[in-house]
Amino acid sequence: MWRRSFSNGVSLTRTLKGKKWDALVIGGGHNGLIAAAYLARGGLSVAVLERRHVIGGAAVTEELIPGFKFSRCSYLQSLLRPSVIRELELKKHGLKLLKPIATSFTPCLDGLYLLLGFDDQQNNSEISKFSKRDADTYPRDFMDILLSPTTKILNKWFESDVLKATVAADAITGSMASIHAPGSGYVLLHHVMGETDGDRNLWSHVEGGMGSVSLAISKAATKAGAHILVNTEVSQIMIGDSGEVDGVLLVDGTRVHSSFVLSNATPYKTFMGLVPRDVLPDDFLRAIKYSDYHSGVTKINVAVDKLPQFHCFKSSQLEVGPHHTATVHIGCESMEEIGSACQDAWNGLPSRRPVMEMTIPSSLDKTISPPGKHVVSLFTQYTPYKPSDGSWEDPTYRESYGQKCFSLIDEYAPGFSSSVIGYDLLTPPDLEREFGLTGGNIFHGAMGLDSLFLMRPVKGWSGYRTPVRGLYLCGSGSHPGGGVMGAPGRNAAHVVLQDFKKQSR
Ligand SMILES: Cc1cc2nc3c(=O)[nH]c(=O)nc-3n(C[C@H](O)[C@H](O)[C@H](O)COP(=O)(O)OP(=O)(O)OC[C@H]3O[C@@H](n4cnc5c(N)ncnc54)[C@H](O)[C@@H]3O)c2cc1C
Repeated sequence: MWRRSFSNGVSLTRTLKGKKWDALVIGGGHNGLIAAAYLARGGLSVAVLERRHVIGGAAVTEELIPGFKFSRCSYLQSLLRPSVIRELELKKHGLKLLKPIATSFTPCLDGLYLLLGFDDQQNNSEISKFSKRDADTYPRDFMDILLSPTTKILNKWFESDVLKATVAADAITGSMASIHAPGSGYVLLHHVMGETDGDRNLWSHVEGGMGSVSLAISKAATKAGAHILVNTEVSQIMIGDSGEVDGVLLVDGTRVHSSFVLSNATPYKTFMGLVPRDVLPDDFLRAIKYSDYHSGVTKINVAVDKLPQFHCFKSSQLEVGPHHTATVHIGCESMEEIGSACQDAWNGLPSRRPVMEMTIPSSLDKTISPPGKHVVSLFTQYTPYKPSDGSWEDPTYRESYGQKCFSLIDEYAPGFSSSVIGYDLLTPPDLEREFGLTGGNIFHGAMGLDSLFLMRPVKGWSGYRTPVRGLYLCGSGSHPGGGVMGAPGRNAAHVVLQDFKKQSR
């Protein structure tokens, strides 16, 4: 379904050549598709050129094991701007959000657990199991956390380890920064700014997996007249004699012409890989080159033959409990545990006890696994890009990391390892190679305070335009950053439409 909907390399030359396009978009991630949809709606002829066989970038669904459809990278939705959903009519194009019954589940080895959801009173009594004081303090203004170290704020607010660790887990997502570092809380803020159908800070599953978000956007784009091509890799952005963009060169040697090119690739890939270096100012190039693309994320997509059974939360083997629909925090009982997992990676080693976010989308979505079987997504940290005690190229080393994660889950949900039918393991180098995510960084560049707002991707260039006239950034490396949010794509399209109108006058 994902592959059939789009033109591939065979008809490509005919579609692309012999015509000057109003705009070309390099990359069919959700942001590139959104940019294309708005440009086409604005009346421009536009083509999206995606190097993979499938659209969506990191918002993708792939059936790697027959019958099991994995959201290989991103797995929960909350950040997609409501304006994008509304304006592109994504629900009409098939987007269906599935709200969890509970939001967060943190099992503890001593048999306790913390289950948070939508009911304030219930949350109060859950937190009271650990601290009455914390239960009363819980609803806080998260703005406090913007500039401070996560640990400082959470220690000030709360006294129970498990609540602090559960909240802190959102602050470390995709980051290699210590939770003791000033500004480490921004990622947490980034995670609580979203919504699902008006419910603030609610992360939902997407029916059919995250690829359904991209598919709905692509339908809106093609309806508006955009052309989307897969298996179409750009090798260079062509610059004319006057220093302005003239189009792109594909890996097969095809030249495609346009005065407006938007790049959904990372800023690093765009400027270090696609733009001829001699056209870029030295200081700009250096700022791009030394941007932070560290990431300690390894994603594991697992097919299992039964629902995980947590020893602290007994339920029947077959029945989906509220905790199965929530984000499950494994190995996350205290901030010290998170800190030492991070310290291992700083010492060059994959964490001995990785911090994991487990989700089970098939607990709500019957379309992604065979009856009775389930899809489990494990977002694990921390794994260095180049570990000092082995190599991610070594199958035994990779396998040992996967098994370590499964064994840790066994401590909380005995029998998990033996329920595994198969899995897909994506280390930072895999994320880079497969999805084009530089350094494996899930956000197209770290979301530290020094690379946000006016500083994203680099100081002075937060407005989607670049030092090359006619070249724009439209992906997560531009403001306001990563996540399946769509804002960079939408904003970039508006800037291009303005410039296009000016040029046509
Ligand atoms: C493991 C993981 C888990 C995540 N979890 C979540 C989550 O649960 N929720 C959430 O909101 N966010 C999550 N994120 C972050 C989010 O998925 C990304 O920030 C977002 O999807 C990036 O979208 P994008 O359109 O900007 O770029 P991408 O999705 O990276 O798309 C860029 C596209 O450009 C293509 N491309 C690159 N170079 C070329 C070239 N030369 N020619 C042609 N095409 C090219 C790539 O193949 C890719 O398809 C996660 C990310 C990862 C990796």
